[in-house]
Amino acid sequence: LVVLGIETSCDDTAAAVVRGNGEILSQVVSSQADLLARYGGVAPKMAEEAHSQVIDQVVQQALEKAKLTEMDLSLGVHKARKIAGKFNIPIVGVHHMEAHALVARLMEEELRFPFLALLISGGHNLLILAHDLGQYVQLGTTIDDAIGEAYDKTARWLGLDMRRGGGPALEELAQEGDADSVKFSVPMKQHKDCNFSYAGLKTQVRLAIESRNVNTEIPISSANCIDRSARADIAASFQRVAVLHLEERCERAIEWALNLEPSVKVLVVSGGVASNKYVRTRLDELVKKKGLQLVCPPPSLCTDNGVMVAWTGIEHFRLGRFDPPPPPDEPEDTVFDLRPRWPLGEEHSEGRSEAR
Ligand code: ATP
Ligand code: FE
Repeated sequence: LVVLGIETSCDDTAAAVVRGNGEILSQVVSSQADLLARYGGVAPKMAEEAHSQVIDQVVQQALEKAKLTEMDLSLGVHKARKIAGKFNIPIVGVHHMEAHALVARLMEEELRFPFLALLISGGHNLLILAHDLGQYVQLGTTIDDAIGEAYDKTARWLGLDMRRGGGPALEELAQEGDADSVKFSVPMKQHKDCNFSYAGLKTQVRLAIESRNVNTEIPISSANCIDRSARADIAASFQRVAVLHLEERCERAIEWALNLEPSVKVLVVSGGVASNKYVRTRLDELVKKKGLQLVCPPPSLCTDNGVMVAWTGIEHFRLGRFDPPPPPDEPEDTVFDLRPRWPLGEEHSEGRSEAR
């Protein structure tokens, strides 16, 4: 079994070819970081254009690197259906967040269901109890922004180089700073649930920067920037509190998960923010203290990639969960139900009642 995974949900165009045994035959990512840096965020129209410019090339490269032609494959919406229709092969639709979680099982052969997963990225903050493939219970989600969004905005307000994405730049600057210097408060302390909120912390950071005389509304130039060590202090203090919020929620989620499924042994942490070393270290400590094990994919598989899509395709295909080949003459403008905000699983009742 060989699967091509195609990933175009946000700002990266990625494709990968993965074998059923987990062997990664090829992996190609074309990043829109330049666009992102120029416009300070993802502009959907622009992202779409950029995807369509590079998708043929990215898929072609992934196939070439894997020494395959389109014919050798079974894959994962328009591009995939076109290939599948042309060669009469089945197709697997993949949920982006499920793919972020399941790629952990590609890395860790021993990782069996059930497990707990924290998915932290640009658009999501999810705590999921994965009972089995396709059977997920959502223990927590964000009530406003995701942590990656808070990293990106903070980085932009601090005038950091956004070309590699705000997260990595902020992480780097934070290493020079004093994490106790600026007193930000940890979100949602009074809510004894597993939900997240990062909008308030974002506002705290903006006010801290503005109080040091930086106008966050205009692009930051060296002229209106506070000095590097003061910015590093803000970065480090932000990071400490942003991650403390994760730690608190995970600690409670572990308790909830163990009540529901006493055999849970692992917390998977994935999504772009999971490539952050400080996040990994802090969560590793917490998870060990709780007698569990942390499983975190390598950074290149935490941020968006084609491998996770291909692997999730493999997992579903193996259980016979796939669609028949589309008709070869399917019109280009066929409209699909893309379900952009499809929930990954059922909401946990406690999460619902306490979130109110
Ligand atoms: P989603 O998965 O929610 O749909 P997305 O696909 O845009 O969103 P990912 O590629 O999964 O997001 O993750 C990107 C996010 O991860 C960005 O917000 C980026 O700043 C953040 N990120 C990447 N590396 C780091 C890092 N080292 N530290 C903190 N944040 C990081
Ligand atoms: Fe993602």
